[in-house]
Amino acid sequence: MKENISRRDFLRRSKGAVAGVAAAGMMGGSGQISQGAESYRGTPSQDPTYHGAQRGPAMRPASFVIHKKAELSEPKGPRAVVVGGGWGGLTMAKHLKLQSPEMDVVLVETHSVFISCPISNLWLAGLVDQGFITHSFLDAAANNNYTFLNATVFDADRDKRRVYTDRGYIDYDYLVLAPGIDYDYDAIGVHDLEQQQALMSRYPAAFKPGSEHLTLKAKIDNFEGGLFALTVPSGNYRCLPAPYERACMIASVFKKNKIKGKVLLLDHNPTIKIKREGFEAAFHELYKDYLEYYPSVSIVGVDVEKKTVIGEFDDYTFDDAAIYPRIRGAKLIESLGLVNKYSPQKEAWIDQFHSNVVGDDRVYVIGDSRPTGFSKSGSTAQEEAKFVARVIAGRMKGQELKWETPYTSCFSMVNSDPMEAIYLGFKYLPPQAGITPMAMERVVAFWTHTGAAFAWRDRKMNRSEEMGEAMLEWARVHYNEMF
Ligand SMILES: Cc1cc2nc3c(=O)[nH]c(=O)nc-3n(C[C@H](O)[C@H](O)[C@H](O)COP(=O)(O)OP(=O)(O)OC[C@H]3O[C@@H](n4cnc5c(N)ncnc54)[C@H](O)[C@@H]3O)c2cc1C
Repeated sequence: MKENISRRDFLRRSKGAVAGVAAAGMMGGSGQISQGAESYRGTPSQDPTYHGAQRGPAMRPASFVIHKKAELSEPKGPRAVVVGGGWGGLTMAKHLKLQSPEMDVVLVETHSVFISCPISNLWLAGLVDQGFITHSFLDAAANNNYTFLNATVFDADRDKRRVYTDRGYIDYDYLVLAPGIDYDYDAIGVHDLEQQQALMSRYPAAFKPGSEHLTLKAKIDNFEGGLFALTVPSGNYRCLPAPYERACMIASVFKKNKIKGKVLLLDHNPTIKIKREGFEAAFHELYKDYLEYYPSVSIVGVDVEKKTVIGEFDDYTFDDAAIYPRIRGAKLIESLGLVNKYSPQKEAWIDQFHSNVVGDDRVYVIGDSRPTGFSKSGSTAQEEAKFVARVIAGRMKGQELKWETPYTSCFSMVNSDPMEAIYLGFKYLPPQAGITPMAMERVVAFWTHTGAAFAWRDRKMNRSEEMGEAMLEWARVHYNEMF
């Protein structure tokens, strides 16, 4: 069902939207409007205390971004706006242009530089340099014939087909949302916003690209000894093997540098959730003295001051940490009113066969904000983006495509000297719809725990240098797809 937003509704809702931008700003984006959010009492233009955006002159009313067009040249064909320049959005922007060359494609992204989450665990351990995982959005746009707009989206009017950014609005014919994830600190018992903020800045999860990774790298490089806690959340979290891979990589640094320290891996799940044999072998054979694994740790709180993870049954004190809470669909999905009410992770309400918002074939959601049990991985987001670009191109010509499975190809580095990796690849059976929150949770659990919904699988659990090399080649091919 399509939501109608009248101008009055929009102004009434704009306070919430402003809060959404403030949250996005914390990720390192421009976040201009967050300054105005605290003093906002009426419509932005009525607010005499609002001092405007960093990019605009002081005292400019906040409403200017609502009434001003973003500075983009007039489109020569139908315009597609892609929101989010991550693995899904970058691939989508490129393939929309490849599928429909007449289309004018604009990619809107909060950050000005791309830092990759995949391979970041290797960078944490010094196996690749920062240049390997850092790329330019400008190159991506120039090489693939679309426009890059460094801005943050905070609302949309689907009747007008208009999306609002902090640099003005853009009218679209097609809108693709690929905003990724946000963290759900409430799910680990941290409800107070001040505590959430303290936890996020002092012990960041580093599961969203950007500053969190820089902070974590400095922690590892400067660690002098003791316990370094990592947590594995519940649910269908971003990149199921990544917390286990990260544990191996950090333990390998301690081992190499002879640090008197251990990784304390606190897992919500009853057992290693994916690639179990491969990770178990690495834990026992390579990191016996550098890693302790605790399954079934249900976290009910974190005491930042006392450096303690509070479990349902036991507490775990640490010297340093990266706390990965449960994840949820990006907050933008919620502020646009697009959450599937049955999704336990507040993901989008889409037709799972074609990825359009239910009842609106002009708006699509891809990547980690989707509600299906697909792996929340970069390779899945890329495959899905290619398919959805074809869905949109087909619909422009009045054709409807049949659902196709994405292909998830997933390497994990488990040893650093020599560089050895393990591998799992799979395809999926068609989506199944959950009709209640319980059913939805069960469907996702069915997909991710049993693997029974996989149409095909390829498992290489014996770590090898050949797989280590293949992992770096996988990264080059996938970066090349986007840039
Ligand atoms: C440590 C780690 C290791 C991983 N390893 C692998 C791996 O080996 N293989 C693999 O396939 N996957 C891996 N992943 C998972 C992969 O990174 C994600 O699944 C993938 O990035 C999802 O793509 P996405 O486009 O949905 O989200 P993202 O890539 O996170 O992109 C979302 C983008 O949207 C932007 N955005 C959000 N809100 C707004 C807004 N309001 N306005 C404008 N822009 C906005 C964000 O800034 C961000 O750039 C790993 C992840 C981590 C954290």
